[in-house]
Amino acid sequence: MAYDVTFIPGDGTGPELAEATRRVLEATGVEFNWDRREAGIDEYEKHGNPFTDETLASLRRTGVGIKGPTTTPVGSGFRSVNVLLRKELDLYACIRPCKAYDGVRTRFPETDIVIVRENTEDLYVGIEFERGTEDNAALRAKLAELGATVRDDAGISIKPISDFGSERIVRAAFDYAIAQGRRRVTAAHKANIMKFTDGLFLEVARRVAGDYPQIEFEDRIIDNLCNQLVTRPEEYDVIVMPNLYGDIVSDLGAGMIGGLGLAGGANIGTEAAVFEATHGSAPKHAGKNRMNPTALMLSGVYLLDHLEEREAARRMENALASVIRRGEKVTYDLKPTRDDPSAVGTSQFADAVIEEMNA
Ligand code: NAD
Repeated sequence: MAYDVTFIPGDGTGPELAEATRRVLEATGVEFNWDRREAGIDEYEKHGNPFTDETLASLRRTGVGIKGPTTTPVGSGFRSVNVLLRKELDLYACIRPCKAYDGVRTRFPETDIVIVRENTEDLYVGIEFERGTEDNAALRAKLAELGATVRDDAGISIKPISDFGSERIVRAAFDYAIAQGRRRVTAAHKANIMKFTDGLFLEVARRVAGDYPQIEFEDRIIDNLCNQLVTRPEEYDVIVMPNLYGDIVSDLGAGMIGGLGLAGGANIGTEAAVFEATHGSAPKHAGKNRMNPTALMLSGVYLLDHLEEREAARRMENALASVIRRGEKVTYDLKPTRDDPSAVGTSQFADAVIEEMNA
């Protein structure tokens, strides 16, 4: 049976990374009917919209997509494809495994953690009041009535965290831990300072943990977590957190495992699941066949797991790990120096992974 999967190459370096990933996914022997859909800045320049309803309809129909990165220009009124996708498809759980493969240069070779980031709430909801505006003044006046003084030259961003949003992300973390044979979930927060938002998140996390007695549960204050991740990463397993901390700790995790070229991920929601790398479109490298496709390929491994093609997923992951461990046919970022002449390109890296899978 062939799986219907929406294939979004993206822009910048996205199309070359997506093509390399598509070839490796097909080489596993699992069959796909790719529904190719465009999104990103090229689409915006052609049609005035970075993202069409057909792309959304395709994702709703197939329920699963793989996506190359897309550019979000700063200050152009251009809507972020990623924010739009998360909102439209309610992709509430962002799952980013960070495992240091042998052969990668990192100071944290024991790292094998999974970051579970809430994707829909927190300071990312976009409820903001620009300084000097009437709405800002009205909000500050209301706050003053309630006994809270805010300077009149302050901008204000609102941080909503709900019981509903916290419960479903914490459940996603525990369900993931069970499905992947993990032993512990840590909830990260700043409940000592933000008692009614992070405090609520922690209260819900403790409540949900009670339903999963087979998995250990603990919590950490976010600053302490960051310190401990770089001093004893081996003590951490699955870590669940609200949106902003999850965004920041994802890049910390990527750095710990050898760089953005190695960090894949999944956005899982009620209507669909979209698999994509943590990194962006790195536009200045576009078209050079230079970037590391591992992050998107690992996202492809998670896609196979999602489809319950577990044997193919392990074969693809093992082949990737072998190519990285040998360190010969790898991209520049995995070489001892960035100008190493023996570095291979994106598509040659894909060839090496396919060769390894067929060996
Ligand atoms: P970026 O992740 O695109 O690139 C930053 C640097 O990281 C690159 O210059 C490169 O040195 C390194 N890097 C990234 N991907 C790599 C890879 N596959 N192999 C090797 N090295 C890699 O971040 P940026 O420059 O801040 O963002 C560029 C654009 O991407 C922005 O428009 C941003 O909004 C967008 N973005 C998109 C996504 C997404 O589509 N999911 C995520 C993050 C950023």
